[in-house]
Amino acid sequence: MSEEQYLDFIALLGSAKSVPLKSFEKTKYFEGCLPIEVMCERGQETLRFGPMKPVGLDHPETGEKAHAVVQLRAENRDKTMYNLVGFQTKLTYPEQKRVFRTIPGLEKAEFVRLGSIHRNTFICAPELLDASLQMKKRPGLFLAGQLSGVEGYVESTAMGLLAGINASRFLAEKPMIPPPAATALGALINHLTGTDPKHFQPSNVNFGLFPPLEKKMRKRDRGGVRAEQALRLLEEWRQKL
Ligand SMILES: Cc1cc2nc3c(=O)[nH]c(=O)nc-3n(C[C@H](O)[C@H](O)[C@H](O)COP(=O)(O)OP(=O)(O)OC[C@H]3O[C@@H](n4cnc5c(N)ncnc54)[C@H](O)[C@@H]3O)c2cc1C
Repeated sequence: MSEEQYLDFIALLGSAKSVPLKSFEKTKYFEGCLPIEVMCERGQETLRFGPMKPVGLDHPETGEKAHAVVQLRAENRDKTMYNLVGFQTKLTYPEQKRVFRTIPGLEKAEFVRLGSIHRNTFICAPELLDASLQMKKRPGLFLAGQLSGVEGYVESTAMGLLAGINASRFLAEKPMIPPPAATALGALINHLTGTDPKHFQPSNVNFGLFPPLEKKMRKRDRGGVRAEQALRLLEEWRQKL
């Protein structure tokens, strides 16, 4: 999109109708997965720094830099269906067709499935789970995946790995050995068990969940140091299992 096309799109999006919230729905959205109209309300540039970020996507033939982009991801092998990447939305169905058909190239798009907001089901882990992912009130029942209070593919799989290791140790009557806090696995467990239950929300893994570094250092060096330390600790932990 050129600047003009982007601004027109944002203006149209800002004035489009959303599905009203039902009485039982809360307006709290997961920050990593906000509806585009909510991002649009936050400012004119928000989408351009989010799902419509043009960085690294210059025009493949002309080399021209775009002001904003919409990414299409193939949904089937024949590439006859595509989804609009990052375009979560609660706009009404007729509004989605009207607004998205103004995207250059999508004027004649047929919509196979329109967007709707999904609910993420999770338990209040800090209240209910211990560090081995067992229900505090029912030892031997392990939770894994998104239900345990993490968000994302890798994170959900990671909790599955830990729940599996712990369940096998439980059956073998071996002690539980939680992963060190300065590893990604341990940082997620700490998030699940150490957060204030009143404000608990699922989280992707990120360095903010790790304990602070002992030494002060430049910001750009921190990631590498944390990663090295985490890999070392992970190996030590693995040896103990
Ligand atoms: C639109 C969307 C986009 C996303 N994009 C990303 C992304 O780009 N990157 C990322 O990392 N994460 C993304 N996520 C999050 C990611 O999909 C989830 O965090 C992850 O899939 C959770 O894995 P899970 O195995 O815990 O749960 P799920 O994948 O939800 O699996 C649970 C399974 O249990 C089944 N089930 C439910 N109830 C029952 C029952 N009673 N009996 C039997 N089976 C049952 C369900 O059908 C489902 O197959 C996205 C999620 C959505 C909805």
